[in-house]
Amino acid sequence: MDDRRRKTRTTGQVTEPGGEATKGVSGKDKEGARVAEVLRRLAEHYRNPRTELSHRSPFELLVATILSAQATDRSVNEVTPVLFDRYPHPGSLGAAKPEELYPIINRIGLFRNKARSLVGAARMICEQFGGDVPRDREALLRLPGVGRKTANVVLSNAFGVPAIAVDTHVFRVSRRLGLADEKTPERVEAQLQSVIPRESWSDAHHWLILHGRQVCSARRPSCQECFLVDVCLAGKAGG
Ligand code: SF4
Repeated sequence: MDDRRRKTRTTGQVTEPGGEATKGVSGKDKEGARVAEVLRRLAEHYRNPRTELSHRSPFELLVATILSAQATDRSVNEVTPVLFDRYPHPGSLGAAKPEELYPIINRIGLFRNKARSLVGAARMICEQFGGDVPRDREALLRLPGVGRKTANVVLSNAFGVPAIAVDTHVFRVSRRLGLADEKTPERVEAQLQSVIPRESWSDAHHWLILHGRQVCSARRPSCQECFLVDVCLAGKAGG
């Protein structure tokens, strides 16, 4: 967001460079309408969004999501068919040595750490959760390699629990759009939960990722071609 033109998220007031806050009819109402319009357009543009990580079960999604940290979904999808074929369930993966995974996943960044996490998570699932990926956040967060983002991805995509996983795209795009302005993923997640209806949390995660990948890239956001430019704070301020 342009520092010269800041908007107060909670009041919806916009401060022009060198000027005072613009008093709206009701700043809160106007801001609510703007956010609603942003969400409406995202929903219309990115219909029926779903994760691009290939998986057939909560366990496979958990594995793919752990692998996807700082890696593209495409690169993960290239290695998981062999991985899932060799280790189809937590029991087989938990019985493996991390080094045995290296030849399969060594194209993925941080593959040694991720191999350790995958084997450790599979073992814990067998030993503490009866062989099934747990369905609650606290339990998921105990698994090696699982942080809040991964837990939210698994909860929303595998179990249908409303959640907003904040990755680099969600963090960047939501701040540019003025849906959030906090500086940590956890706080941005809380802000997004406060402005997005609960039933749209999981979809909103996908909308913001897709928009970040296709239009609002980190280095060169395509504001001129963006269907949100008139309702985006960064877009209106000149990108
Ligand atoms: S207008 Fe620009 S900054 Fe705003 S969402 Fe679109 S591409 Fe991103």
